[in-house]
Amino acid sequence: MRDVPVRPLRIEALAPVIGAGRVAETSMALESARQALGGHTVWTVNSTATGGGVAEMLVRILGYTSGAGIDSPWLVLEGDEPFFRITKRIHHKLHGMPGDGPLLPGDRRHYERVMAPNAEALGSRVRPGDIVVLNDPQTVGLAGSLRDCGAAVVWRNHIGADTVNEHTDQGWAFLRPYLGAVDLCVFTRQEYAPHPLPSPFVVMPPTIDPLSAKNGDLDPVAGEGILEACGLGPVPPGAPLVVQVSRWDPLKDPVGVMDGFLRLEPDRFDAHLALVGPDTAEVADDPEGQQVFEGCLRRWRALPEAQRRRIHLVSLSMADVEENARMVNAIQRRATVVVQKSLAEGFGLTVTEAMWKRKPVLASAVGGIQDQIVHGRQGWLLSDPSDPAEFAAALDRLLRDRVLAASLAADARRRVQEQFLDDRQLCEWAQIFERLAGSRRAA
Ligand code: UDP
Repeated sequence: MRDVPVRPLRIEALAPVIGAGRVAETSMALESARQALGGHTVWTVNSTATGGGVAEMLVRILGYTSGAGIDSPWLVLEGDEPFFRITKRIHHKLHGMPGDGPLLPGDRRHYERVMAPNAEALGSRVRPGDIVVLNDPQTVGLAGSLRDCGAAVVWRNHIGADTVNEHTDQGWAFLRPYLGAVDLCVFTRQEYAPHPLPSPFVVMPPTIDPLSAKNGDLDPVAGEGILEACGLGPVPPGAPLVVQVSRWDPLKDPVGVMDGFLRLEPDRFDAHLALVGPDTAEVADDPEGQQVFEGCLRRWRALPEAQRRRIHLVSLSMADVEENARMVNAIQRRATVVVQKSLAEGFGLTVTEAMWKRKPVLASAVGGIQDQIVHGRQGWLLSDPSDPAEFAAALDRLLRDRVLAASLAADARRRVQEQFLDDRQLCEWAQIFERLAGSRRAA
């Protein structure tokens, strides 16, 4: 287990964005949780400190709970390459996809071998009455030993599929033995809860922080410098820029984005495309990244020069998380249209981030994206994410119809302001902590 430093944040800082009323409501909820916890710790465990939506959220959410006086340490579990290959396979299956093959009995043995030392490290620190929030399939195997320590266990799972199939069944069959020790599950959508589920669950969509380096205002001159440094200098100032920011994951379908983009009539727009993702060497819990990135590179190299000139594969270092966030911020702000052509998606924070930045978003009607965008209102949804023709036609429309694009963008911003900012998530966590602290006392 590795400790990730948490920098405390003050919820009051959000007042200019969310107003004094929402700040007061959140402060009161957190204070009430702090008192109910009576000095107990709320531990959070996940599998990476950088790269992907979960790490992105924990930095801010744990910052705010720490800032409110709740002891909120963040730990990252240690695993080896085969472990992360197994957990990525489970990830695909929960998304309803086959992944790289079946889950075998040896996979469970290996998964549990990796759990053992992590459980021991955590067990030496957790006290009876503490709460432990485990994130995603990589950590749920710790639930049993934590319960034996007398902790209340929350499992916050960010992924799932809209409908069940043989792959989701296999994924849940792998995880089910660990769920009995969980006191409360938290899912991004109602549809993601498996049946049967031994514990109660709540639904909690993710949120973003409007003040983070990723989402806060950015000086336009600084933004230009950042774009230059990211390798997007060659995009002419007036050229429309289509952007997808994602981990290099087959479910984000970066090659499909390229293929769809290439169907646009080049003369009409002289549009450019930026596919942006983390440097694959730096995201330990996602072993597929390198392969997917290389697939994109191969596809790009095979294109004629005129097309290569308009498509940019941007690999961003994660070494400095704030710096990475500023780069993503600058790229999203430069975008004319932000796309998220995922084949499956837990929630899609990149969609939220773009909506907050008043961008017209073109995204697949899958998973949590559907909770963020009503088609034709806060963005444009693709009914068949695997169809490059539908993607190209919709992209063409959004690039052409500036009135439509502006109206989607304005409504998108409103939607995020109302529903998907961190104060809402903090109030929900505060209620959960209070409820679990209360139930432990009663026990
Ligand atoms: N992200 C980033 N740098 C990158 C690529 C992605 O910071 O090079 C961030 C992105 O801005 C978003 C998160 O990673 O905050 C991805 O979250 P999302 O929910 O879209 O997808 P996930 O990776 O969790 O499947």
